[in-house]
Amino acid sequence: MTATPGERPWMDPDRSTTERVDLLLAQMTLAEKVGQTHQVANIHPDDDAALLAEGRIGSSLFASGATGGNERDEGVLASNIDAAQRHAIEGSRLGIPVLFGRDVIHGHRTVCPIPLGLAASFDEVLVEEVAALAAYEAVVDGVAWTFAPMVDLSEEPRWGRVAESLGETPVLSGRLAAAMVRGFQGADPSDPDRIAACAKHFAGYGLSAGGRDYDTVSVGENTLRNLHLRPFRTAVDAGVTTVMAAFNDVDGTPMHAHRHLLRDVLKGEWGFDGVVVADWNGIGQLIHQGVAADLREASQLAIEAGVDLDMCSGAYAAHLADLVESGEVAESLLDDAVRRVLTLKFRLGLFDRPYVGEPPRSNAPTEASRSTALRAAHASHVLVSNNGVLPLAADTGTVHLTGPYAEAAEELFGTWTLDGRGEDVVAPATAFRVRLGERLLVSDGRFSDRAVQQVRNADVTVAVVGEHPWRSGEANSVTDIGLPAGQLEHLRQLSRIGKPLVVVVYTGRPLELGDVMDLADAVLVVWHPGVEAGNALADIVFGDVAPHGRLPMTFPRTTGHIPTSTHQRPTGRLIELHEEGQQGRYLDDQVFPRLPFGYGLSYTSFEYGELRISGGSSPTLSGDAELVVEVDVTNTGERAGREVVQLSFRDPVAQVTRPLTELVDWAVLDLAPGEKGTATFTVRADQFAYFGRDNTLRVDAGEITLVAGPDALHGSRLSLTVAP
Ligand code: BGC
Repeated sequence: MTATPGERPWMDPDRSTTERVDLLLAQMTLAEKVGQTHQVANIHPDDDAALLAEGRIGSSLFASGATGGNERDEGVLASNIDAAQRHAIEGSRLGIPVLFGRDVIHGHRTVCPIPLGLAASFDEVLVEEVAALAAYEAVVDGVAWTFAPMVDLSEEPRWGRVAESLGETPVLSGRLAAAMVRGFQGADPSDPDRIAACAKHFAGYGLSAGGRDYDTVSVGENTLRNLHLRPFRTAVDAGVTTVMAAFNDVDGTPMHAHRHLLRDVLKGEWGFDGVVVADWNGIGQLIHQGVAADLREASQLAIEAGVDLDMCSGAYAAHLADLVESGEVAESLLDDAVRRVLTLKFRLGLFDRPYVGEPPRSNAPTEASRSTALRAAHASHVLVSNNGVLPLAADTGTVHLTGPYAEAAEELFGTWTLDGRGEDVVAPATAFRVRLGERLLVSDGRFSDRAVQQVRNADVTVAVVGEHPWRSGEANSVTDIGLPAGQLEHLRQLSRIGKPLVVVVYTGRPLELGDVMDLADAVLVVWHPGVEAGNALADIVFGDVAPHGRLPMTFPRTTGHIPTSTHQRPTGRLIELHEEGQQGRYLDDQVFPRLPFGYGLSYTSFEYGELRISGGSSPTLSGDAELVVEVDVTNTGERAGREVVQLSFRDPVAQVTRPLTELVDWAVLDLAPGEKGTATFTVRADQFAYFGRDNTLRVDAGEITLVAGPDALHGSRLSLTVAP
């Protein structure tokens, strides 16, 4: 079946990608074209040999069975993928390789912190490094494409998928998403150590009603454009090669049928020329959502809306050819989808280097990969309260470690960890034992009487509590963001004894922490940190590393306060987020969040000076001109520390209501005790642009207020005049 190079001119790497795609597309039958739009859940290379040879499978999430080995064993997934590729390439008429995608979300073999934890780092360089590591390890297994980053803005802690998100603000999520895209894809995805990335889930998924996964979304286009679409736009501008459609509807139109947002905005207005992939059975789901009578109609809606690749519904494979033949769907729509898929395959180098090859390389964690995971875990730890008990002095006597995660392994990985191994995890007890030896007491996680006794025997207790990873992630929503049942009561029991108590919270979402903060001497929020969990915690608790993570989501006081977010817009009665007198919308509690976006302590203290314009220039922003604003920050404590200086803004008069505060930039300062540093920010008028009443982007003349501070609620203010 193999053709000569002359018969397959698209195999010539010296031709441009466009030319290669055109040459190939011109040879394809309708069935072969449809094959490229069909993604299956799994390929069994032998059972599926005929389909592969006919070119009827374009992409897959898994490959199993060829070797008979366990897919999690080294080299097995890669061999299965190679076996499938051989059928697709050598057994077929046109030799088109299959595109293997996988959810490589926060590391592959070397599991790093969950994305929400990575976002707490506010560190684009580190996040890019984590994604590059994941790409490298995934490539070894034959994976060419990851379904990450997830850039849905997350304002809803009941929603389990916030664990996968990069937080609640467009600028932080967008910039970290771009860093991930650079890490996964490199400068060019044809780099053999890189893979394609996917910005998901387009769009509005973070607004699912009640925090229930997959639920409906009621949001207007203006709020979408001013907030939720922005990180997608940043990812597209960073060159992301694929975008995944979201399960939800937006104001009645399911995203898999949303022609306006997919075709007009994403592909048209933004010029996205990559692949729009459906979410899992997202096309089939159009029937359940009640907008299509059957799969045939669902296929028509989806291809017309701009969904190029059908993930696992089988709708396109079953109906697209017939829809084209009957003239109900224009062949040009199918051609456009196929062209996008083929372009991606060429860009990834799949035609030129389709096989992983032998012998299998190892992607087990190494010293270097563990160093990346450790630094990422350090950066994700957020200290939210501390009366001075932390860091523990090296000569602290006896330390008691207790709680359900003291000796945990896989539980410290977090959601979406398909390829990590429990045996690679350093548990908190292991890391603490290395430092303390006999001076460490560990009691089991059920807070038995023994645990209470050990509190008495120790100088300090460190309780590691929080959520099991299955309590967050996809489809795992909760009605109560308190600590899991029983944990608070047990912490109360431990604290009653009157010895110092440090509480460490593993979590995939913001939790209600007020009571814990009241009873503990220090509270650390550490998310799900990955393979280096124990080492990272020990480094922070014993002060080798000062905590420097910042909350990427607001922590509300209680579940009843949800939704809370930094993007609260002014009302007739609420005009300042931080003015006590303007609150009062609840009879039984304040409206303030318990912990604002951006919050996090260090082991030292910082003092802010006045935000000022550098060099005494006039406070006017005109045209494309740049203005430098700066603020001095002094380390007033006795230890070195890192401060994340956050620049937010407010636009007091606009065509539409604008957030009371919105992050616009941040700067990181590492300061020795007593040292004064200056955070500088370059601002331009277009950073304050917004979508007006007609949903077009505009910059208005007038005042804006900048605020530089340690979190979304506090800081030093400066007014600028925008004169576009
Ligand atoms: C999720 C996606 C994921 C896909 C493939 C879906 O259920 O919503 O985020 O990439 O499954 O595993």
